[in-house]
Amino acid sequence: MEKAPKSLRLHIGLFGRTNTGKSSYLNMITGQSVSITSPFCGTTTDVVEKTMELLPLGPVVFLDTAGMDDTSPLGITRVEKTKKALASSDIALLILENGIWSEYEQTLLDACTLQKTPVILIVNKIDQAPPDGKWLERLQSFSVPVLVASCCDGNRERYIMDLKKALIELYPEDYLSSDSILCDLLPPTKDDLPLVVLIVPVDMQAPKGRLILPQVQSIRDCLDHNAAVSVVTSEDYPRFLTMLNTLPDLVVCDSQVVDQMVKDTPPSVACTTFSILFSRFKGNIEVLAEGSGRLSNLREGDAVLIAEACSHHPMQDDIGRVKIPRWIEENCGPGILIDSCAGKDYPTDLEKYSLIIHCGGCTLTRREMLWRIEQARAKHIPITNYGIAISVLRGVVERTLSPFPDALLAYKKTLIAVDSKDLG
Ligand code: SF4
Repeated sequence: MEKAPKSLRLHIGLFGRTNTGKSSYLNMITGQSVSITSPFCGTTTDVVEKTMELLPLGPVVFLDTAGMDDTSPLGITRVEKTKKALASSDIALLILENGIWSEYEQTLLDACTLQKTPVILIVNKIDQAPPDGKWLERLQSFSVPVLVASCCDGNRERYIMDLKKALIELYPEDYLSSDSILCDLLPPTKDDLPLVVLIVPVDMQAPKGRLILPQVQSIRDCLDHNAAVSVVTSEDYPRFLTMLNTLPDLVVCDSQVVDQMVKDTPPSVACTTFSILFSRFKGNIEVLAEGSGRLSNLREGDAVLIAEACSHHPMQDDIGRVKIPRWIEENCGPGILIDSCAGKDYPTDLEKYSLIIHCGGCTLTRREMLWRIEQARAKHIPITNYGIAISVLRGVVERTLSPFPDALLAYKKTLIAVDSKDLG
């Protein structure tokens, strides 16, 4: 469990005013000095992450944030990071100063309600003074769990139990019954095992000695659902097909070789890409398919944001920085401005873009990816994903989206809308 990828861990964010003891509370719960603490305001300057196994919940990651009332010179940057941490939290712990409930706390609670993030209110430092009964009653009227805590009164075990109990009550359903990445696309099993073929590149850009997360998770998904899975390189794929007695039930490839896969795969066999699978697993495939329609009418001067959720050193012929821009130019003509961002730095000024093309987001939680999609939608900016965009640009989208009829329909509807707008 200690090795569970961060994106599959329950994200628990700690929020509150500066110096309410968020870091001390986290240190008390984890039993370690994860965050630096001091009596001075603004000691936590960045989001501090701590992964741990919190039984019986399983693998979690705590996000210790700077207070949103941070008015120090670097405060604005910290507050932005804290807001992003709120967007990626599955559950928020709002740490309170005894006796204080002001507009600040109400705003945080309202933000959680708006984002449908479950909240636990924690009255900290009760060793300094017992909380006033009337004030506690007010907190309880918000219909969210209210806990009390102290880092120095010797009741650590009790506070940990209280927190675990509250977390279990609020545990988001999608963590209890996680969706399959691809196995629901397979025919129901009779006597034979369904067969999935994964085409993975083993080239300069592939990490040495290992597979990347979407590939590993897809293999595990097949094993979890009693499907046989074969992994081949794109060069070996045609020869591998000739060795089989029966055709595969599903073929999945890296987006960069999608046109080759479509060419080599018999028309009766369903095929798609890892990135498209992740557009559904992490995000909203219909919305992302709809967004890809914008590729058909990009014009000179339009700006496109290419967003990746992890940062890596760009290699020669990098997919996000070189290949997608090149394919956009080939399809849409010159003069389209391309910006890129990586890691946690998802921009807030999205309105300047005509289209956002996001990677599969395998290192993000589903909640965080959905939040990114929502940020674009709130500003009416079409957003799509690498796999869908590349399939459109390579002319094979009808094939790679065919396992997802609703998404294919969403894509086609946008095309019709774009056509009639252009005619009109
Ligand atoms: S770029 Fe996106 S899809 Fe690719 S490994 Fe990073 S987070 Fe995962």
